[in-house]
Amino acid sequence: MAADVEMTLRGPDSYRIARKAVDAMERHNVWPTALNFELWSHYIADPNGALARELGRLIALGEPMTETVSEELAATFLAKSKLNEQIRDAGDQLSKELAAVSKAIETAQKSNEAYGQTLAGASQELVSTTDANSLKSMVATLTTATERVQKQNQTLEKKLSESTTEVARLREHLEQVRRDATTDGLTNLANRKAFDDELARACADADEQGLPMTLAVLDIDHFKNFNDTWGHQTGDQVIRFVASVIGRVGATPRFAARYGGEEFAMIFPGEDAGIVEACLEEIRDEVASRMLKRRSTNEDLGTITISAGLAQRKTGEASACAMERADAALYISKRAGRNRVTNGERVASVAA
Ligand code: GH3
Ligand code: MG
Ligand code: MG
Repeated sequence: MAADVEMTLRGPDSYRIARKAVDAMERHNVWPTALNFELWSHYIADPNGALARELGRLIALGEPMTETVSEELAATFLAKSKLNEQIRDAGDQLSKELAAVSKAIETAQKSNEAYGQTLAGASQELVSTTDANSLKSMVATLTTATERVQKQNQTLEKKLSESTTEVARLREHLEQVRRDATTDGLTNLANRKAFDDELARACADADEQGLPMTLAVLDIDHFKNFNDTWGHQTGDQVIRFVASVIGRVGATPRFAARYGGEEFAMIFPGEDAGIVEACLEEIRDEVASRMLKRRSTNEDLGTITISAGLAQRKTGEASACAMERADAALYISKRAGRNRVTNGERVASVAA
């Protein structure tokens, strides 16, 4: 379990695990980046966990551990475990708050009951009492009891108001956790998980309302060359630039996500392929026509291009099939020379 791994990584065995993780990375030709270290420490600390099983599978297949693979593993396994922890912590705090509130209510109930009994006793006594001294002492008893119950009610009120504030804070925190879990940190677009969720929802909507829906996949051209020439950090800035164009250019409403490293996916609810093709052309043109500059030095980086593919989902078609057709259209754009948009509906091999 994720929490146990976290404890192990901070427990008496932590240095031994760290050394083993570094050894394992070296054995498998994995660069000792911070992210890889995190992944491989989990691999050693929790050898039967989901992350270790997936890493084991990739090793067995002889897959090279590229940065994209590491990022995908982290997004799938580490993000989820962190998220689960945060949700559990918020849940724990909420339970504590509720326990404190019910205790305060219980105490107030008891003191109200006791007050009721004091009043009942006093009214009985009142019937039989005639002398002034007894009356005086009765009034004193009643005053003390009233003060006690007033104090108790004030404490309860204060506790309830504190809890209301705390619950509002927890709600805000959970909302932030939810936003983080569905957003890609680099681009602020939706992440892959959010895309998959939205796609399932949009497909159900489209079928229910009998509306068309088009999917698009976009990928930066020759991005490996760009990174090799200008470095990964500048590469990241380019990914952000492309993301901003994808989010804003063209008037067609869309749901846009960073699908993987330098790849984006979009859902166009209610739109047919022709409209989407025009929108993607606008996006492609905007990206290609912008002269890029490195922020830190103002150096000219030249231009970059993107390729795109789109497919209109058929009513009732599985979302994965429509995505595959959009992917196939993207592949055609790449083979035809890149910097282009392929409408899968106009290509026989994709429209199947
Ligand atoms: P193609 O035109 O065929 O798409 O060529 P490509 O070089 O873009 O494609 P390839 O799949 O060979 O390489 C993708 C590269 O994208 C590899 C990696 O260096 C880069 N990349 C992936 N994710 C990130 C990222 O988050 N940041 C940066 N800077 N680069 C990334
Ligand atoms: Mg690419
Ligand atoms: Mg790619």
